[in-house]
Amino acid sequence: MSSSFTRALRPALRTSSRTLAQRSSAIAGIVRPAASSNVTSLRRNLSSTSPRRSASAIDISDIPPTPITHLSEIETAMTESVAKFAADVVLPKAREMDEAEAMDPALVEQMFEQGLMGIEIPEEYGGAGMNFTAAIIAIEELARADPSVSVMCDVHNTLCNTALLKWGSEHVKRTFLPRLATDTVASFCLSEPVSGSDAFAMATRATETPDGFVLNGSKMWITNSVEAGVFLVFANLDPSKGYKGITAFVVEKGTPGFSIAKKEKKLGIRASSTCVLNFDDVAVPKENLLGERGQGYKYAISILNEGRIGIAAQMTGLALGAWENAARYAWNDRRQFGSLIGEFQGMQHQMAQAYTDIAAARALVYNAARRKEAGQDFIKDAAMAKLYASQVAGRVSSLAVEWMGGMGFVREGLAEKYFRDSKIGAIYEGTSNIQLNTIAKILQKEYTS
Ligand SMILES: Cc1cc2nc3c(=O)[nH]c(=O)nc-3n(C[C@H](O)[C@H](O)[C@H](O)COP(=O)(O)OP(=O)(O)OC[C@H]3O[C@@H](n4cnc5c(N)ncnc54)[C@H](O)[C@@H]3O)c2cc1C
Repeated sequence: MSSSFTRALRPALRTSSRTLAQRSSAIAGIVRPAASSNVTSLRRNLSSTSPRRSASAIDISDIPPTPITHLSEIETAMTESVAKFAADVVLPKAREMDEAEAMDPALVEQMFEQGLMGIEIPEEYGGAGMNFTAAIIAIEELARADPSVSVMCDVHNTLCNTALLKWGSEHVKRTFLPRLATDTVASFCLSEPVSGSDAFAMATRATETPDGFVLNGSKMWITNSVEAGVFLVFANLDPSKGYKGITAFVVEKGTPGFSIAKKEKKLGIRASSTCVLNFDDVAVPKENLLGERGQGYKYAISILNEGRIGIAAQMTGLALGAWENAARYAWNDRRQFGSLIGEFQGMQHQMAQAYTDIAAARALVYNAARRKEAGQDFIKDAAMAKLYASQVAGRVSSLAVEWMGGMGFVREGLAEKYFRDSKIGAIYEGTSNIQLNTIAKILQKEYTS
């Protein structure tokens, strides 16, 4: 993977008073940030689309504006480190894992070793204690090599770890976060056969018992479920209250009555497991209640709003990976009519346009991430980022197949895989129509007098 592409889309590191030795000790194993990294990372332009701030917003009025793609020192180190891991370790396995429709267990272990499964988990729980943007960068860089590995990292970090950090009791945090940071993959279980876009129409029920709760029902389309040891499950504890009965639980693999009913065979991200899960009288101890009874719908909405920025990052990384793969071929390998095919203006214009689209998608993604970190409204920004980045990923990966001609169409290379993998961006964590609904609803509110 050529670093020149990275440099072109990412501005050079700003001057820093810290020495290289301090920097490298801070990134041992990728991620051991200085205590001030969150503050450092906020020293940039955090706004673009809305001047309004929530009550919890950080005051950024005296921060000099900087390019939205400017990264802190620790985030830059993270980018370089994950890009190297993705190129050296993930990319060589991408084709084989896609053909096998399975994630290599050794790679899952390496993801933990690299600190990529506990990015925002504080160090006291065994994680890396980094910020949200660091997670977004990791997801993006992994997707450049393999979007399946990227979504494993995304769901685990931005949905599951975040939920436990935000709403877990001290018992839940102490029991599960050290495992999620070091050796146990997690799944986020919301969708069901009867409830996709209309997620809160779920049929899975929870019943309270003297010892805790009993779950009954089925979940569908659950990412990471083959690899996972911990499942964040949403079920309705009081259907008489409608969606206000939805409650979140932490369920461990191996609990009697819990089973994987079916593993899906998919068009894309085939190394990422997607399964139907059954819950037949699954007993959950009362300590594994996540947060408060009846608050599950609020938790799910909140997590998915953040998670969408992760999917947008995955799609941006995918688009860049597809573009780079084809650009290398067009500018180095393939000659027709006596020239490299990348010399033809018809090719160059398309490639330049596609690269511009990727940079625009990245700007939306980083802006949404920074707004979230600053405590500003970010829901519209996250929806726009996910919508646009998934469109760009679809367009660019499709063009990249064409730029490579027959070589783009065969399964020898990765062009056709990026194209297949891109399709999921418009479906999970809210379809494109659902993102458009969200954007339009907020705009209508803003523009209604
Ligand atoms: C590979 C994969 C991995 C997934 N991983 C997870 C996971 O880990 N956890 C999890 O809980 N779920 C997961 N999902 C589920 C995913 O979030 C849903 O598939 C998605 O929300 C869409 O739901 P659906 O498939 O039921 O489609 P539907 O809701 O049936 O939608 C079908 C079509 O109707 C349109 N539509 C629906 N409602 C509206 C509306 N109000 N306005 C306009 N158009 C509308 C949609 O845009 C779409 O085009 C995954 C799905 C896939 C395919």
